Amino acid sequence: QEPPARESVPQAGDASLRLLRRIGAVDPESLDDYRAHGGYLALRRALEIGPAEVVRQVSEAKLTGRGGAAFPTGRKWEATAGQPAQPHYLVCNADESEPGTFKDRVVMEGDPFAVIEAMTIAGFATGCRRGYLYIRGEYPRAVRRLRNAIDQARERGLLGRSILGREEFDFDVEIRRGAGAYICGEETAIFNSIEGYRGEPRSKPPFPVEQGLFGKPTVVNNVETLINVPLILTGGGAEYARTGTADSTGTRLFCLSGNVRRPGVYEVPFGTTLRQLLDLAGGVEQDRRLRAVLLGGAAGGFVGPDQLDLPLSLEAVREAGATLGSGVVLVFDDTADLPALLLRIAAFFRDESCGQCVPCRVGTVRQEEALQRLVRDRGDGAEDLALLREVGRAMRDSSICGLGQTAWNAVESALDRLGTFTAAQPPDRTPGDRDATRPPET
Ligand code: NAD
Ligand code: SF4
Repeated sequence: QEPPARESVPQAGDASLRLLRRIGAVDPESLDDYRAHGGYLALRRALEIGPAEVVRQVSEAKLTGRGGAAFPTGRKWEATAGQPAQPHYLVCNADESEPGTFKDRVVMEGDPFAVIEAMTIAGFATGCRRGYLYIRGEYPRAVRRLRNAIDQARERGLLGRSILGREEFDFDVEIRRGAGAYICGEETAIFNSIEGYRGEPRSKPPFPVEQGLFGKPTVVNNVETLINVPLILTGGGAEYARTGTADSTGTRLFCLSGNVRRPGVYEVPFGTTLRQLLDLAGGVEQDRRLRAVLLGGAAGGFVGPDQLDLPLSLEAVREAGATLGSGVVLVFDDTADLPALLLRIAAFFRDESCGQCVPCRVGTVRQEEALQRLVRDRGDGAEDLALLREVGRAMRDSSICGLGQTAWNAVESALDRLGTFTAAQPPDRTPGDRDATRPPET
């Protein structure tokens, strides 16, 4: 996915922007400028109120994870902070690899000090002295800016020993770069990767809050999740929770791409409808008819044009059988070749499966084969459709990690919501583009 053009990021200065408010306005290479834009006030506040109160504020804010699974951050922090085993570790998951996701990149490149400040607060609240920022290797500019931010913060006593003169608070951050494997964004695969092993997921439970990196209590948070924390501390948890809906508080970064007029990262309160979000991005390119929207990325699912009034909140999307995942909103107009796209998604999962467990290793291959037959042979397909469902259920129920568990989501939603491959539905591709349906060479 091409990163969004700079001008496609909503302009800083817009009062509705919170997480993106400094992007484009602050010099991402200057600690002084970050401070001039309100930087490090939240860390000072955290040190004033103490770790337990920081965790309480985050819980009161009802902050949920923005990496995809929406687990309550306060619960995760409380569980880690309360573990007697030492040391505790913090991992910032910046291995942003979900197809169609590029929000964390925009944040890390445009406001890197915010990520480091937020990690420092998280480390303080959960009793960690060391944090790892695990970033995808394909983000070299973000790596450079984060390294610079870490160096400057160390020089000014904002990382390292006795932060801001507090003798009992030592915390430092190390950057680790991924090497192109999607699976290394899975939290326990990150642990293996940092420890120097093959990037394969571990079985959960035990959850990382109990046994994570090097077998020690570990809190793992996504970049976007973390940068909400300074806002919570400066404004208060209760105030933060006033934005959004009752169960989905705050704002969310959405990555709009595909057949949309102005692709980019958009920040809106939870509860904004899909239609409003698409309008913000200028609607469908060339005023064509909307065919489908892939919400949540390859691990997410399709919604149809009849679902445009769906509020983008965790509860509404869950009720509709979809997911917000990592904030992907991939738009397809009526020229989209959906069967070819499903084949591409299936090939992606087959390729990225780490091969450790049978349901996923074999299931992703069988899924791709069945789709190939459906696309190429164009028979009535009943047997292959039944096989897809059986394989999909097996992957969802018995795979070790989220990759296998979600590898069938997009296909299932296309069958159920868009009617792809059913007789009643006209072919999703136009005559003549048969070649485009061929899966990539393997
Ligand atoms: P998960 O539901 O297993 O866990 C979510 C988080 O909550 C984890 O940190 C987990 O350790 C924690 N957790 C869950 N139950 C817990 C408990 N009882 N006690 C303490 N902690 C607990 O989901 P996951 O496999 O970590 O993530 C799946 C999501 O990742 C999917 O929704 C997908 O959208 C997303 N994803 C994102 C990207 C990206 O680029 N951002 C890439 C791939 C997948
Ligand atoms: Fe590996 Fe897939 Fe099993 Fe996850 S589900 S452990 S990616 S084989």
